[in-house]
Amino acid sequence: MFPLGHPFANKNTKLFLAGKVAKRLLTEAQEAFPYEYSALLAGRGADITMHIPLRPIEPATHFYQWDGDSLVRALREISRADLEWLGVLHTHPHSPPVPSQADAAGWHYAQLSYWILSLQGIQPELRVYQWAEGAFQERSYLITGDR
Ligand SMILES: [Zn+2]
Repeated sequence: MFPLGHPFANKNTKLFLAGKVAKRLLTEAQEAFPYEYSALLAGRGADITMHIPLRPIEPATHFYQWDGDSLVRALREISRADLEWLGVLHTHPHSPPVPSQADAAGWHYAQLSYWILSLQGIQPELRVYQWAEGAFQERSYLITGDR
């Protein structure tokens, strides 16, 4: 089986996103614009240290569907790197970083983190959520420097 992490295991702990990963995610998301971009996030515990871009079935501006093979390959890569799958990220090129109805219908991994990067405004806006009690709850995170 694929190694599923528990980034929210400690409720008082923030998630940590490595600065170099955050930078790459933003660059790749902006390159994909005006289409959506998506990636798997991996690391250990509450520390995200790796991302793997996912290929969409077809480029979309408002709805993201993962390609199954691309997802399986990404999970294998996480496994080979001896890391845990900690979450997913996708962009909202034209809307705020708030989960859509399709997002809510398509995601029920309560133990993983669900990141949305909005490119709607002048400044990109990144939020993280956890699926809990039948709804997305916003959680907090910190972008860390290189350690
Ligand atoms: Zn969305």
